[in-house]
Amino acid sequence: MSYKVTLIPGDGIGREVSLAAKRCIDATGVKITWEEQIAGEEAIAKYGAVLPVKVIDSIRKNKVAIKGPIMTPVGKGFKSVNVQLRKALDLYACLRPCKLMKGVKTRYTNIDLVVVRENTEDLYAGIEFSQGLKRTEDVMKNIEDLSGIAIKKDSAIGIKPISISASKRIVKFAFDYAVKNKRRKVTAVHKANIMKETDGLFLKCAREVSEEYKGRIEFEDRIVDNMCMQLVQKPELYDVLVLPNLYGDILSDLCAGLIGGLGIAPGGNIGDNMALFEAVHGSAPKYAGLNKVNPTAMILSGVLMLRYLGEENAADRLEKAVCEIIAEGKCVTYDLKKDRNDPSAVGTSQMADAIIKRLNS
Ligand code: NAD
Repeated sequence: MSYKVTLIPGDGIGREVSLAAKRCIDATGVKITWEEQIAGEEAIAKYGAVLPVKVIDSIRKNKVAIKGPIMTPVGKGFKSVNVQLRKALDLYACLRPCKLMKGVKTRYTNIDLVVVRENTEDLYAGIEFSQGLKRTEDVMKNIEDLSGIAIKKDSAIGIKPISISASKRIVKFAFDYAVKNKRRKVTAVHKANIMKETDGLFLKCAREVSEEYKGRIEFEDRIVDNMCMQLVQKPELYDVLVLPNLYGDILSDLCAGLIGGLGIAPGGNIGDNMALFEAVHGSAPKYAGLNKVNPTAMILSGVLMLRYLGEENAADRLEKAVCEIIAEGKCVTYDLKKDRNDPSAVGTSQMADAIIKRLNS
């Protein structure tokens, strides 16, 4: 069996970690033809568009993609390419497994969590109105008329849509994942005590969907602030977490921190018939071009991709090789050393070399 996969290298540290992941995936022996596409700043320079149509077309055609991180300007400039891709392709489920690996320094001994984040709506929907514009004033006036609540005149506005359809399908995704992967419990995370309509609707949908899995998968819910504390204090109590978009984004990084940092946290954005895999981390611009950062998160995103393709054996072998190299602690990047200044730390490509060598041994 051979596959065509769209590869978007990304920017900052993106090219380095994507190349490492591509080499490791190729080393499993699975036959992949890579179709490279560029997006982000590099695409603006070359094609005059941050997300050229041909990138979307390539993913639609190949159905599977892997992507390095892409920078998003803060507070100005173009909208996140990452968010645009997830929305354009309706990759509604963001899957982020967080499992503690032997050899990684953390405060914990036993963590095996899966974060399932809704990817298409919530405050991430991109419905924002700039401060000072006439149309923002109009929106504020309408809101005031309808709700009776006055908004300060010097405000910017963001809208938080939460729908029944998107909430039900993400919770169903979480339960189906739990069933397929023999997990025991799904926890829905929300702030429905305060956001009674939006988060309240998400929770209502989660409760309804959970009924279909009664007796097979346990269900509970947690308020997001309490969830953060619980995850820090007793993460071993939790299993699969399902969250609206923004809480999912924040808790993904929290969970990555629990298992040793962003350098080892993989992810996938999954829709009904296509998927795009990427690390949880961003483009870490200060490390760009230094051959320094950890390629594990991208390589493990590749493992998720191989599983999505049905290449379980290759995925198991690659995951095992990564785990062994990390457990040995010799050929690993600075962030996996006890002392981050340890001179024996290897570079991004050397860690990938060690994983490939182990895979083939
Ligand atoms: P970041 O994840 O890029 O980096 C934060 C810190 O985490 C780094 O300084 C570094 O210490 C550590 N880190 C990240 N990746 C690592 C790795 N592979 N190995 C070792 N350490 C690693 O977060 P940021 O600095 O907030 O964001 C930088 C840019 O990335 C922003 O423009 C942001 O919008 C973008 N971003 C993109 C994605 C994506 O493409 N999916 C995700 C998150 C952030």
